[in-house]
Amino acid sequence: ATPTALMAGTGRGAQLGILIKGPEVLETALRIDTVVLDKTGTVTTGRMTLGRVHTAHGTAETDVLRLAGALEHASGHPVARAVAAGAAARTGLALPAPADFTDVPGLGVRGTVEGHAVLAGRAKLLTDAGIALPASLEDALAQAAGQGSTTVAVAWDGEARGVLEVADSVKEGSAEAVAELRSLGLDPILLTGDNQASADSVARAVGIDTVHAEVLPEEKAQVVRRLQEAGRSVAMVGDGVNDAAALAVADLGLSMGTGTDAAIEAGDLTLVRGDLKVAPAAIRLSRRTLSTIR
Ligand code: ADP
Ligand code: MG
Repeated sequence: ATPTALMAGTGRGAQLGILIKGPEVLETALRIDTVVLDKTGTVTTGRMTLGRVHTAHGTAETDVLRLAGALEHASGHPVARAVAAGAAARTGLALPAPADFTDVPGLGVRGTVEGHAVLAGRAKLLTDAGIALPASLEDALAQAAGQGSTTVAVAWDGEARGVLEVADSVKEGSAEAVAELRSLGLDPILLTGDNQASADSVARAVGIDTVHAEVLPEEKAQVVRRLQEAGRSVAMVGDGVNDAAALAVADLGLSMGTGTDAAIEAGDLTLVRGDLKVAPAAIRLSRRTLSTIR
């Protein structure tokens, strides 16, 4: 490809809302056959809201909201923001400040609130700590996940106390974007740290058949590497801190301009407005740019 044609392609990209790190990126885009899509914030809006609250027998809903909300207030995760905002709104109280707090990437949060050792996150966070969920909460988790919700299990002082439902919605245009990727001959794959049932529900809504769910942040890059070892040329689309390694490992990293700085830095190109429909446009642009000069 001539530098002039690549420069022109880069310029056209800017008009479409695609920021390209360097002209050589367009040449890489030509080889891609597989597109791995992060779920939260990429296929979905990532603007989550707190839904139903389920409590264990003998536990008050306000306690679950106050203790989980206090911890989540200290985390920047989209799930955490929904829990903290919902808890503050529903209890009508200021959330207490945790005495200590740890973010457990891909799992949840851990800390001390009002003298209680509190955990909030995926069920795995609790079971890893040796805390079993009572049948009523297990049922609540399964039901909510089956409806596509993300769930937050809450425990303190060694006992599971509640389950919070957090809902996200598929971005307008995501299904169309997936259909366009397919029509370009690309195989779409959904990749997420969220629960399997919620991931399956989003995948169904947008027309993706292959789903990797409950993948820990450090394993996301490994999923991409394994596809490459199987002979695929992989594009990764993501927005989170957790996606940065996968974006860097991928043959082509597309980051959402609405996402974190870490993701934007790791990507080869940025979809400025966070519009997934621009992903197939980027692939088409590179094909057109390079075919005009061959
Ligand atoms: P994704 O891959 O969808 O961007 P993450 O890897 O960040 O998601 O997180 C995976 C899952 O871990 C989330 O769907 C959520 O269930 C849980 N999780 C992560 N952080 C938190 C948190 N602060 N509070 C509650 N749950 C969390
Ligand atoms: Mg994300």
